[in-house]
Amino acid sequence: MKGLKLLLSTASMLAVTGCAEQDGLESKIEVHLQTYEAARQLVIERNYQSDEPISRQEWEPLFNVADEFRLSDAELDELRARQSKLIAQNKIIASENSLIDLDSLRRDPAALADFCYQMPKGGMLHVHPYGLFTRDIITELLTRYNPIIEPEYFITTVKNQSQVLYEHEIEALRSLPESSPFLDLTAAEQSLFTDYFFLPTDPVSHDFTRFDAIFAFVIWMVEDEHLNEKMEVLYLDFLHRAAAHGISYIEFTNGYSPTVESIELLTRWSDKFLEETGVVVRWNLGTVRFLPGDVIADYFKAWNALLAENPTDAIVGIDIYAIERGNPALEKAQHSYGYLVGYNSENENYPLEMTMHSGEMGDPRNVRDAMVMGVGRLGHGVLLKQDPIAIEYARRNNIGIEMNINSNHQLSVHDKYAAPHPFIDFLRLGIPVSLSTDNDGIFDTNRSKECIAAVSTTDVSYNELRALSYNSITTSFASPATQQVLVDDLNMRFIDFERDFAN
Ligand SMILES: [Zn+2]
Repeated sequence: MKGLKLLLSTASMLAVTGCAEQDGLESKIEVHLQTYEAARQLVIERNYQSDEPISRQEWEPLFNVADEFRLSDAELDELRARQSKLIAQNKIIASENSLIDLDSLRRDPAALADFCYQMPKGGMLHVHPYGLFTRDIITELLTRYNPIIEPEYFITTVKNQSQVLYEHEIEALRSLPESSPFLDLTAAEQSLFTDYFFLPTDPVSHDFTRFDAIFAFVIWMVEDEHLNEKMEVLYLDFLHRAAAHGISYIEFTNGYSPTVESIELLTRWSDKFLEETGVVVRWNLGTVRFLPGDVIADYFKAWNALLAENPTDAIVGIDIYAIERGNPALEKAQHSYGYLVGYNSENENYPLEMTMHSGEMGDPRNVRDAMVMGVGRLGHGVLLKQDPIAIEYARRNNIGIEMNINSNHQLSVHDKYAAPHPFIDFLRLGIPVSLSTDNDGIFDTNRSKECIAAVSTTDVSYNELRALSYNSITTSFASPATQQVLVDDLNMRFIDFERDFAN
């Protein structure tokens, strides 16, 4: 299931060295990158061939190189300077090849909003279904199922899960009746309760633990015997809206029990959603990373074995999510990702690709370690910017990055107004970045608003926006045949869009 390696507008990009012959720095970088390959072999040995995970003490020295290959401070500066030069050069090339000048749009918010809404976007590769609920859908579900609301349940659950509600929010929640069906609440009380399904807008940015508390409400609302019918309402609502924003492909990430029934459900949903909304839907199996590594591995190994016996196009990959801080990649993921990278290297028709939330927060080495463990994409990947060697690995190996500007802004990962979001540098370094939303509903965003954020807070050019759209297909986990259909479709959409925009 290897992705197409299409050479699009990045084909004209320059190499970091700028000349064919290798220099001393380039040879040293290659020695560093070889440590990644050696570490991967050990991950396979210890997690696929045997069941003897690697300790951190054993792990870190794997990335040391002999003294003669170590980069001096001056050489590290030189590497960063070469990367900066590449960023500057590719910025100019992209700008010169751009059919549409975005500068006039930057001065006209209404025109920019219209442009971003109309622009073909390809896919979204980082979407959590539980984060997609809009006010309308929440009201519809709470009205239809009329659950009993008990404020103390939420306050206790959030506290027990080390999540956070602010003091004034706890007080406001306690102003509701101790126990009442949703429909018995006044309109004002219903509205107040519904607010807890969204991130407060004042202040704008929050710690992850405040964000995480929202899922206590969502899980309470959906997880019962009506789960699938509730989720189907949600998926269809979201996909219809996504289609209107020019989205043709979605990868959803969610947990499903490893059963034949789940395979049938997800395959049936993909078929139905394509038919009703025109959007191609694929599924990444995910689980929370705060579970023990061996428990996470049992889950993914069960899925892998099941899919090897019962193949489907609909289920394409794995992911781990939830709070990265305190749950580093090596300790949490090697048992499963190490197993799968070994399995995949031995089985041509392996069922599952890999992505991992890494570099959103927490240990910056997670980005390196996810790549060592064989991921095809990084979720968020913001902290990659701290490691120039890992950047070299990502750009030379076409590692996709699923970036989410507004999520990062609202979770104190990257203030979009303080500095340009790093997606732009990664893109200019030749890394196949794409834009997604993480959680449309919770962050009150969508792929068009991510486009607006990209254009209004960075100097991205039109050609680069195009590249983001194509990258979202070519780094997807869809089969090569499906990718080809989606690329052909995207080509047609761009022809129409550019013709309409010219008039
Ligand atoms: Zn996420």
